[in-house]
Amino acid sequence: MPHHISRQSCQRWDAQDPLASVRQEFELPTDLVYLDGNSLGAMPRRARERVENTLALEWGRQLIRSWNGACWFTKPRSLGDRIGGLLGAAPGQTVITDSTSVNLYKAIVAAARLRPGRHTILVERQAFPTDIYIATGAARAVPDTRIRLIDDSSELEQELTKDVAAVVLGHVDFRTGTLLDMPALTGMIHAAGALAIWDLCHSAGALPVVLDASTVDIAVGCTYKYLNGGPGSPAFIYVAHRHLDHIEQPLTGWNGHATPFSFSTEYQPHQGIDRLRVGTPAVLSMVALEGALDVWDQVEIDEIRAKSLRMTRMFAELLVDSGLDMLTPTQEHLRGSQISLTHPDAYAIIRALIDRGVIGDFREPDVLRFGFAPSYLRYVDVYDAATQLLDVLRTRSWNLPEYTERLLVT
Ligand SMILES: *Cc1c(COP(=O)(O)O)cnc(C)c1O
Repeated sequence: MPHHISRQSCQRWDAQDPLASVRQEFELPTDLVYLDGNSLGAMPRRARERVENTLALEWGRQLIRSWNGACWFTKPRSLGDRIGGLLGAAPGQTVITDSTSVNLYKAIVAAARLRPGRHTILVERQAFPTDIYIATGAARAVPDTRIRLIDDSSELEQELTKDVAAVVLGHVDFRTGTLLDMPALTGMIHAAGALAIWDLCHSAGALPVVLDASTVDIAVGCTYKYLNGGPGSPAFIYVAHRHLDHIEQPLTGWNGHATPFSFSTEYQPHQGIDRLRVGTPAVLSMVALEGALDVWDQVEIDEIRAKSLRMTRMFAELLVDSGLDMLTPTQEHLRGSQISLTHPDAYAIIRALIDRGVIGDFREPDVLRFGFAPSYLRYVDVYDAATQLLDVLRTRSWNLPEYTERLLVT
């Protein structure tokens, strides 16, 4: 282990950490180091309070009156603007609705319709598989349209032929943790006459995102990862102002109607971002997310990024001699908020580590993945996680039959 990093120095950094007090906003088991906030964020105390209050009062006592009285119906918009604020989006362009998968479907069909005469959707081969599956299904829904997989964003320029309507890119790669240059790639896509759709699942809440300034067309992302909205909390979709008046999304449900309560037979899309809504929002999940967003009011995303980079650098340094191969770029401008390492027995190693109270996860085929959520992680946690991992490797304690059997969710 590199001797310039000690547990004492980590404790010193924790004492000086401007984000240290934010940890108290979360309910976290004391015997756990949680490095999986990139998959399911920890539970903010405010989320519990908001859900309990909704159960007791808004639903329990006020019942149907809460759609107006507790502003249930407009939560997708009010929370959308709050998340938009974290993503460099001016109000009125972001709404909370559905899942990332469903929002991506709406985004791709809508983008293809904005570029009639062009029939190709580009998607990265290493994208999160749902993005590829959804792009395939969305392309089938638009006449003569198909997807083309690109091996790497470095190929984008040559792949941007005149037939490309839209490009779907993951801001941070879920497997490797590689961060793409959003403004530069968006500019390149626009220069070729296509639209840029960004998936922010692994960057929203993890690092600064500037959607408006990057001239992004459409963006989607989860709220249950770094934003801590809770298991299955609803996703967001952003559509730039310049497209909102004429964008046509395929799932024309009543919540996206200009006047849902006119109950008219004819579909008339809402004027603004509300047209991306579909059906009745999941209010309990929505209020949990609302509580989670209160935590974001106290933090600066630049501080999150600075701490995240320091933590990922430190974790990588602690593991230089571990025998694991680093998959995540070491250069800071190319790195999200995770460290991915490879080993042929990655799955068993992760299982052994979880049994020691250090939670990371495994991704096919051989990736040990560790996410760093600076709002509730301490530097000592990073140190302890690396120490445990090195010990699991040194003692080969992962080498047990029970650790090789795959669980349903990995
Ligand atoms: C987590 C994740 C998703 C998940 O989509 P859901 O519809 O919420 O299941 C999609 N895309 C990326 C890049 C992800 O990391």
